[in-house]
Amino acid sequence: MTTPASPELAVQTAIEDAAELVRKAKRAVVLTGAGISTPSGIPDFRSEGTGLWSRDEPLEVASLNTFRTDPQRFFEWFRPLAGQIFYANANPAHTALAQLEHAGHIKTIITQNIDGLHQKAGSTCVVETHGTMRTLICASCYQKYGAEIYLKPFIDEGRIPLCELCNGILKPDVILFGEQLPQAAWVQAQRVVRQCDLMLVAGSSLEVLPVAGLPIQALDRGAHLIVVNNTPTYINVRADVVLLKDVASILPEIAKRVLYG
Ligand SMILES: [Zn+2]
Repeated sequence: MTTPASPELAVQTAIEDAAELVRKAKRAVVLTGAGISTPSGIPDFRSEGTGLWSRDEPLEVASLNTFRTDPQRFFEWFRPLAGQIFYANANPAHTALAQLEHAGHIKTIITQNIDGLHQKAGSTCVVETHGTMRTLICASCYQKYGAEIYLKPFIDEGRIPLCELCNGILKPDVILFGEQLPQAAWVQAQRVVRQCDLMLVAGSSLEVLPVAGLPIQALDRGAHLIVVNNTPTYINVRADVVLLKDVASILPEIAKRVLYG
């Protein structure tokens, strides 16, 4: 093995290696986190100093308890975030993954994000482990609603979404602090990870359990691992390929090589 002559060459080599693993994989799974949506302007609420999530004690206000006891306060806090998500567009990283799925190189995307940007980019097999902004659920009678028609009046005029059947308050279908992960999504995520022969971690620092443990499960069953994230993760030492880079620049490069050689 030769030492790459420059950092740029090392990156190119890693991109080639990643593309080769994706090309050879039969059941590739992608795990995405906040880092894939920051290029679309959506702040990572768990990072310090990034926009609205870090002010006003987000852990407390973004909780099921606040939603139940002081919905007005919850929705005031939630409104700018909902606006950012509603008007956000998919970025080249989302698009690259959608292209790879359509070409048959990716089976499933497991995401910790609630923004629906994978679907906006055209991905169809997306497991949302932290819930989604695309649907709302009545806190009283559990009727589900598509979020689209409720979100715009809420974002633009502050109108809190109400159930058409019982007038209960509609809760965004996202996992608030104090809530369990959605059972069906979690079961599905674990199933596809058990079956995968390649996991690509993209834009997740793998700090939030239990999702952060999924790469271990994949590795323990003999899958290959690629990590593309601009900060190191705990699992990098066990990865076949690590790209400490922005996903929006790297994933399109990988997809290009997989799809066009
Ligand atoms: Zn209801």
